[in-house]
Amino acid sequence: MNTVDYLRISLIDRCNFRCHYCMPEGSELDYILQQELLTHEELLTLLKEVFIPVGFKKFRLTGGEPLLRPGVVELVREIAALDQTEDLAMTTNAFLLAGMAQDLYNAGLRRINISLDSLNPDTFDKIIGNRGRSRWQQTWNGIQAAHRVGFDPLKLNIVVIPGVNDAEVLDLAALTLDRQWHIRFIEFMPIGNPELFSDRAWIPSEELRQQIRDRWGLLESNVRGNGPADVFQIPNALGTLGFISQMSECFCDRCNRMRLSADGWLRPCLLNETGQIDLKSALRSGVDLAQLRARVQQLLAIKPDINFKQRDSGTDGYYTRTMSQIGG
Ligand code: SAM
Repeated sequence: MNTVDYLRISLIDRCNFRCHYCMPEGSELDYILQQELLTHEELLTLLKEVFIPVGFKKFRLTGGEPLLRPGVVELVREIAALDQTEDLAMTTNAFLLAGMAQDLYNAGLRRINISLDSLNPDTFDKIIGNRGRSRWQQTWNGIQAAHRVGFDPLKLNIVVIPGVNDAEVLDLAALTLDRQWHIRFIEFMPIGNPELFSDRAWIPSEELRQQIRDRWGLLESNVRGNGPADVFQIPNALGTLGFISQMSECFCDRCNRMRLSADGWLRPCLLNETGQIDLKSALRSGVDLAQLRARVQQLLAIKPDINFKQRDSGTDGYYTRTMSQIGG
């Protein structure tokens, strides 16, 4: 297995979008109470005293919507300033990004992934559950601001849902032709909205690649990032196309990550709920930090078993937390 050195940190479980596939309207989401969120200080203590000492050095801030977290720019500054931070990135929906992109960049953030499930404002607004007010333009402005400020790489994440946005695969792929943007097509997972999932299911990445190949040709790229994407490129395009195929492929052998929820649960595998540790309660009850390090170290040791052996029980089973709660 890969070395596990990458932590995805959820800063908040709330989001200003209600994407149909992630936080469907009417679903009962119990938001984490303010006092249950890890404070900045607790998060930094966990990074400095627990995660970094056991080998984590790449961090991604996500949520919910990380830009809703009060003080996010300051937190970026503090994490970026840690000597051992090799890489700091963020996943956002970009709705609030236009006004924050420069401050985030100045604070030390360099890499950003933006979710953009459609180029069509009507489809986009339906997906995000906008309740009558279009949010597409402001999101697009956020993406343009990130580009202007110089985030590199700038990646756009698209969850492909049959009958919802799959007709746009070529239009989205075409964004890479003359921009150095990186598109990541993600297979829809049964987390968040099991009804939509059982109704629509998911499209294997290979089918998307075939559409793109038929239109422009497709080259395998030797780019390999932090993530599980298989990376390709349209000949002569400036950007790349990545495919995250957690449904059609098992890439447990390439897994290099764990996830920390906004309320301090450490989760070793996205696709099943085994082995999670409640770090916040341990921290607040005064558990010795050396003991916490030992528990995380132990979880690292059993992670391969959790990934490979338990994977199947997760993919068709019931998830108690949505991606917004886990930290997608
Ligand atoms: N609010 C931020 C955003 O929109 O990028 C960060 C959090 S969001 C939960 C992170 C990623 O999870 C997004 O790219 C989203 O599309 C993805 N996601 C959520 N539910 C998913 C599902 N059921 N299958 C695949 N991806 C999902």
